[in-house]
Amino acid sequence: MTYRETAMTKKKKKAAKKVKNRALVAEKNEEAMVEGILEGSPDGIGVVIVRLECGCKKMAAVARDGEPASKLIMYRDQAESICDKCKKDNGDFMRVTEAFIHWSKPEPSDQEKEAINAKVLGTMPVIH
Ligand SMILES: [Zn+2]
Repeated sequence: MTYRETAMTKKKKKAAKKVKNRALVAEKNEEAMVEGILEGSPDGIGVVIVRLECGCKKMAAVARDGEPASKLIMYRDQAESICDKCKKDNGDFMRVTEAFIHWSKPEPSDQEKEAINAKVLGTMPVIH
Protein backbone atom coordinates (compact mmCIF):
# COMPACT_ATOMS: atom_id res chain seq x y z
CA MET A 1 0.00 0.00 0.00
CA THR A 2 1.35 3.38 -0.95
CA TYR A 3 1.38 6.31 1.42
CA ARG A 4 -1.37 7.97 -0.59
CA GLU A 5 -3.65 4.97 -0.28
CA THR A 6 -3.02 4.72 3.44
CA ALA A 7 -3.92 8.35 3.89
CA MET A 8 -7.11 7.94 1.92
CA THR A 9 -8.17 4.89 3.89
CA LYS A 10 -7.63 6.76 7.11
CA LYS A 11 -9.68 9.65 5.87
CA LYS A 12 -12.56 7.40 4.88
CA LYS A 13 -12.62 5.68 8.25
CA LYS A 14 -12.75 8.99 10.05
CA ALA A 15 -15.65 10.20 7.95
CA ALA A 16 -17.64 7.03 8.52
CA LYS A 17 -17.22 7.32 12.27
CA LYS A 18 -18.53 10.85 12.28
CA VAL A 19 -21.72 9.85 10.48
CA LYS A 20 -22.34 7.01 12.89
CA ASN A 21 -22.09 9.23 15.94
CA ARG A 22 -24.38 11.82 14.51
CA ALA A 23 -26.97 9.26 13.44
CA LEU A 24 -27.43 7.74 16.86
CA VAL A 25 -27.90 10.87 18.92
CA ALA A 26 -31.17 12.72 19.29
CA GLU A 27 -31.30 15.96 17.34
CA LYS A 28 -32.14 19.20 19.12
CA ASN A 29 -35.72 19.21 17.89
CA GLU A 30 -36.10 15.55 18.83
CA GLU A 31 -34.82 16.19 22.34
CA ALA A 32 -37.77 18.44 23.15
CA MET A 33 -40.10 15.64 22.05
CA VAL A 34 -38.14 13.08 24.08
CA GLU A 35 -38.37 15.22 27.22
CA GLY A 36 -42.12 15.55 26.79
CA ILE A 37 -42.58 11.82 26.34
CA LEU A 38 -40.46 10.97 29.38
CA GLU A 39 -42.36 13.46 31.51
CA GLY A 40 -45.59 11.69 30.72
CA SER A 41 -44.14 8.20 31.19
CA PRO A 42 -42.96 7.58 34.77
CA ASP A 43 -41.82 4.05 33.86
CA GLY A 44 -39.86 5.19 30.83
CA ILE A 45 -36.09 4.85 31.06
CA GLY A 46 -35.56 5.91 27.48
CA VAL A 47 -37.30 6.79 24.26
CA VAL A 48 -37.15 4.81 21.05
CA ILE A 49 -36.53 7.14 18.13
CA VAL A 50 -37.38 5.80 14.70
CA ARG A 51 -36.58 7.94 11.67
CA LEU A 52 -38.33 7.19 8.41
CA GLU A 53 -37.01 7.89 4.93
CA CYS A 54 -39.86 10.32 4.30
CA GLY A 55 -38.78 12.51 7.23
CA CYS A 56 -41.52 11.47 9.64
CA LYS A 57 -40.58 10.03 13.02
CA LYS A 58 -41.95 7.58 15.50
CA MET A 59 -41.23 7.76 19.20
CA ALA A 60 -42.30 5.80 22.25
CA ALA A 61 -41.02 5.53 25.79
CA VAL A 62 -39.58 2.18 26.76
CA ALA A 63 -39.64 0.64 30.26
CA ARG A 64 -36.82 -1.19 32.02
CA ASP A 65 -38.22 -4.55 30.89
CA GLY A 66 -38.19 -3.48 27.25
CA GLU A 67 -41.95 -3.04 27.05
CA PRO A 68 -43.51 0.18 25.73
CA ALA A 69 -44.04 2.73 28.50
CA SER A 70 -46.11 5.16 26.44
CA LYS A 71 -48.21 5.11 23.34
CA LEU A 72 -46.46 5.43 20.01
CA ILE A 73 -46.20 8.98 18.75
CA MET A 74 -45.80 9.77 15.08
CA TYR A 75 -44.94 13.24 13.95
CA ARG A 76 -43.18 15.28 11.35
CA ASP A 77 -40.97 18.29 12.09
CA GLN A 78 -42.49 21.62 11.13
CA ALA A 79 -45.64 19.99 9.83
CA GLU A 80 -49.12 19.67 11.21
CA SER A 81 -49.40 16.03 10.34
CA ILE A 82 -47.41 13.07 9.10
CA CYS A 83 -47.02 12.57 5.34
CA ASP A 84 -49.56 10.79 3.14
CA LYS A 85 -47.32 7.75 2.83
CA CYS A 86 -47.24 7.29 6.58
CA LYS A 87 -50.96 7.82 6.85
CA LYS A 88 -51.33 4.88 4.51
CA ASP A 89 -48.75 2.44 5.86
CA ASN A 90 -48.39 3.83 9.39
CA GLY A 91 -44.65 4.29 8.91
CA ASP A 92 -43.85 0.78 7.72
CA PHE A 93 -40.58 -0.54 9.14
CA MET A 94 -39.38 -1.20 5.59
CA ARG A 95 -38.98 2.57 5.28
CA VAL A 96 -37.08 3.01 8.54
CA THR A 97 -33.67 4.60 8.05
CA GLU A 98 -32.54 4.81 11.66
CA ALA A 99 -33.77 3.40 14.93
CA PHE A 100 -32.16 3.78 18.32
CA ILE A 101 -32.93 4.45 21.95
CA HIS A 102 -32.26 7.76 23.63
CA TRP A 103 -31.62 6.92 27.30
CA SER A 104 -32.78 9.16 30.09
CA LYS A 105 -30.33 10.00 32.86
CA PRO A 106 -29.09 8.19 34.86
CA GLU A 107 -28.56 5.75 32.00
CA PRO A 108 -28.97 2.02 32.63
CA SER A 109 -25.92 -0.25 32.60
CA ASP A 110 -24.49 -1.33 29.25
CA GLN A 111 -25.81 -4.82 29.88
CA GLU A 112 -29.33 -3.55 30.44
CA LYS A 113 -29.07 -1.31 27.40
CA GLU A 114 -28.02 -4.23 25.26
CA ALA A 115 -30.90 -6.40 26.42
CA ILE A 116 -33.45 -3.63 25.87
CA ASN A 117 -31.96 -2.73 22.50
CA ALA A 118 -32.22 -6.33 21.37
CA LYS A 119 -35.81 -6.59 22.51
CA VAL A 120 -36.96 -3.26 21.11
CA LEU A 121 -34.87 -2.89 17.97
CA GLY A 122 -34.00 -6.51 17.29
CA THR A 123 -36.43 -6.89 14.42
CA MET A 124 -35.82 -3.50 12.88
CA PRO A 125 -33.11 -2.49 10.44
CA VAL A 126 -30.65 -0.26 12.25
CA ILE A 127 -27.98 1.87 10.62
CA HIS A 128 -24.62 1.28 12.21
ZN1 LIG B 1 -43.90 10.00 6.42
